[in-house]
Amino acid sequence: MNVADTELICGILKSSRFEMTNEAANADVILLNTCSIRENAEKRIYGRLGSFKNLKVIKPNLIIGILGCMAERLRINLIEEKKIADLIVGPDEYRRLPELIDVAFSGGKGIGVRLSRTETYDDIIPFREDGLQSWISVMRGCDKFCSFCVVPFTRGRERSRNLNSIVEEVKLLSNRNFKEITLLGQNVNSYRDGVYDFADLLSACSQVNRNIRFRFTTSHPKDLSDKLLYTIAENSNICNYIHLPVQSGSNRILELMNRTYTIEHYLNLINKAKRIITDLSFSTDIISGFPTETYEDHLMTLKIMNEVKYDGAYMFKYSPREGTKSYKMNDNVPEEIKTKRLQEIIDLQQKISFEKNQQLVGNEEIILIEGLSKKSDQFLSGRTDTNKVVIMPFEDNIKEGSYIKVKIERATSATLFGQFREFIYPTENKLA
Ligand code: SAH
Ligand code: SF4
Repeated sequence: MNVADTELICGILKSSRFEMTNEAANADVILLNTCSIRENAEKRIYGRLGSFKNLKVIKPNLIIGILGCMAERLRINLIEEKKIADLIVGPDEYRRLPELIDVAFSGGKGIGVRLSRTETYDDIIPFREDGLQSWISVMRGCDKFCSFCVVPFTRGRERSRNLNSIVEEVKLLSNRNFKEITLLGQNVNSYRDGVYDFADLLSACSQVNRNIRFRFTTSHPKDLSDKLLYTIAENSNICNYIHLPVQSGSNRILELMNRTYTIEHYLNLINKAKRIITDLSFSTDIISGFPTETYEDHLMTLKIMNEVKYDGAYMFKYSPREGTKSYKMNDNVPEEIKTKRLQEIIDLQQKISFEKNQQLVGNEEIILIEGLSKKSDQFLSGRTDTNKVVIMPFEDNIKEGSYIKVKIERATSATLFGQFREFIYPTENKLA
């Protein structure tokens, strides 16, 4: 999401009078786009700011700006008290960046931290380098207020872009030969532009070009509709892959988290989705050590992981965020227990990923070639519909962006290894 926001910011700045440089030392303005989701994310930003201090000594007029969620969360504190930034701009005020940079250049403090109920940047074309993969933000903000989460406070209330403007953006990306587009929102299932819902949007996007793969993230288990499931099933260029964060396997913890679903509801949903969509994969987010989490609660999380058998998981230690509801709860799971539980969760996921990948050995899979393998130019790297990396021997006539069928010959927990079988040419309605 921050990559998408950075592209939006670059779009705004480039259409004003700014140029980009890849060298911090050459810059007159350095902007850091920040994340507040966990304390670690913020610590890294402080580290980066420290490394720019020397530049400011050499070039006193250098403007350093903090953008995004941290700007919203810490506001003038970063300018007035800590004096580490000249510019503070939150996620809904990027249009004002050229003007606020001018304020900073003339010695003032450029501050824009108001949140908006309507800003969607619908009319702004983000600046994107050429490539295969791209992102489109289809909505902003979140209304869910999970008790641990800072997003509704830093990114504001939920609002959706207009379907036509998103479809137009897909057409632009299609003309530039992008091959994979991910539609982004904190909770894409809540997309609603007044007329259309997320299933309508996904369907409209997928029809622009059958040669483009569509992904989307994130889905909230409370409102993943049947209509959306059927839309995925009916369009073969919509990936059979749903990121459906569970967060915890314990109903008691889920309630404290204000996630508004039970594990039973969650499992029913997974089973229904698997019935509607063949070869469907899931990934998840999990938090370990939420306040009051007991060993039994933790075991329930391991249990749901074993039941669903996720293809992938993003796993975190609970990090208290000021202003959220759970911040007021006692953060009473000791750090070493959080760490131990997280490690158990990570180990289990690795085991599950390994076993799931072994089951694919002998199968034929369709992959989109992304380029040379990172480790060796003797190999090509591609990705399955279910987001798994496949490595295969280099062949001259296989180009980046081709769809090919490979036979999987071996697998680790993270990677599949295969051999070329044949080229796949997407037809009007089907990829496979
Ligand atoms: N909107 C998405 C996720 C946004 S944040 C959703 O609801 O799924 C991405 C992930 O960060 C969350 O799913 C959660 O697992 C994790 N996260 C958010 N706040 C956190 C916190 N305070 N401590 C630890 N992990 C957190
Ligand atoms: Fe945060 Fe919950 Fe909204 Fe996701 S759905 S962004 S976790 S409040």
